[in-house]
Amino acid sequence: MSNKSEVRVRFAPSPTGDLHVGNIRTALFDWAYARHTGGKLIFRIEDTDTERVTDQYIQAAIDTLKWLGLNWDEGPEVGGEYGPYLQSQRLEIYATWAQKFLDQGDAYHCYCSAEELEERRSAQMKNNQAPGYDGKCRDLSAEQVSQYKSLGRKPVVRMRMPDGETVFVDAIRGEVKFEHKYVPDFVLARADGSPLYTLAVAVDDVLMKITHVLRGEDLLSSTPRQIRVYQAMGVAESEYPIFAHLPFVMGQDNAKLSKRNGEVSIAWYREQGFLPEAICNYLALLGWSPGDDKENITMQELVDLFTVERVNSSPARFDMKKLEAINGDKIRALTLDKFLEWSLPFLINAKVITGNPQEIEVVKSALPIIQERIIKLAEIPAMLKFLFVKDFKVEAEELGKLTDEASQNVLKVALAKVEPLQSWDHAGIEAVLRSALIDELGLKPRIAFSALRIAVTGSHISPPLFESLELLGKERSIARIKAVISK
Ligand code: GLU
Repeated sequence: MSNKSEVRVRFAPSPTGDLHVGNIRTALFDWAYARHTGGKLIFRIEDTDTERVTDQYIQAAIDTLKWLGLNWDEGPEVGGEYGPYLQSQRLEIYATWAQKFLDQGDAYHCYCSAEELEERRSAQMKNNQAPGYDGKCRDLSAEQVSQYKSLGRKPVVRMRMPDGETVFVDAIRGEVKFEHKYVPDFVLARADGSPLYTLAVAVDDVLMKITHVLRGEDLLSSTPRQIRVYQAMGVAESEYPIFAHLPFVMGQDNAKLSKRNGEVSIAWYREQGFLPEAICNYLALLGWSPGDDKENITMQELVDLFTVERVNSSPARFDMKKLEAINGDKIRALTLDKFLEWSLPFLINAKVITGNPQEIEVVKSALPIIQERIIKLAEIPAMLKFLFVKDFKVEAEELGKLTDEASQNVLKVALAKVEPLQSWDHAGIEAVLRSALIDELGLKPRIAFSALRIAVTGSHISPPLFESLELLGKERSIARIKAVISK
């Protein structure tokens, strides 16, 4: 889609909270486009809303991108030729442009108070008119201005929207047209001089030489206002960035994505043990496809295959099951060392282990037996806890399942069979238990092994039983079986 020599694409969040799925999908597409084209990714923090954007959220946004592996070429921590990349450090630049627009007559001072605006807005609504600024202060006389001033009113700076329409070609949606009667004169700077989004974003896109704006569809309607700012800055139409508005991400029920229908905050996914490559892989499929039915892709494949032409314009639906399936696949694809590296923080945070070398060895030997079964890393502590608890005890709720005669019988027979075993490996344990419980007693495996599983791991959900017994060791296994056999 590009005829610009060097691609410069930006990710420009306003971190008013943790970055959410929608932000990250945008960041990912920005990154993939920059990497695919060999261009630059500019990371800009839009923090002019000082009441809602905090340092903590800015830092969290930086950390999240790093964690996901979405590196940037210019922006916080790395700097760059067109910085600073925090809008709060560029306020003078915006003020200078706002003044220039006033001087040129593109913008004007508006003295309407919030109450007056609200009153007129309600009246518009009542009369079935599109709500929006009515142009009251467009052409104030010097007299009116001094009257307002004598009342102590401080003006905002408002952009004059000419009659007509704005037409541009969106790289995903094709030609998009906005009639200006629906784009009222808009505020560029507040009475205290601070800039609004539309001013800051447009000025920065021009000054940072942005060639492509890939961002969420929710910002489509702000495009004609941004284009108006470019015009006032004297930018030729051929120099406008190319816009590509990415489709909405909806929740599982087609409603707006929320905690209820698909969790929004990336911090949550991280806590649950979704791997960054799984999140990126899955989010890449929200509105884009690699071209065939392939769903499991690597970051490199994403870079190789990513084009804006393959981005769809219809809303994408978030599907937690699919994300989980991809996460499971990515976990299975980890080398043992990588899997260990990812698992340890979860085990340590859950206080299952302290992280000493001996424990790490045990974890390492246990991981292969759970790698096939888990979907999220957060499942690991519960699965491996039985190997580390000091005073092991089956909780009352599970213990109740072991008191019936049939279970007691299984436990006694099993004990009698494993106790004499000379070597303690899962194949040998399995062989004697199968022959005694399944072949001789004629029990169904689920019934035969569930009592034993609860006895040694404390839960009816655990890693594979025979491997668990092997890992636990003979002494502890036998002690645990004995402890639940009624005297
Ligand atoms: N800062 C804006 C936001 O987070 C996005 C800016 C843009 O991509 O144009 O909503």
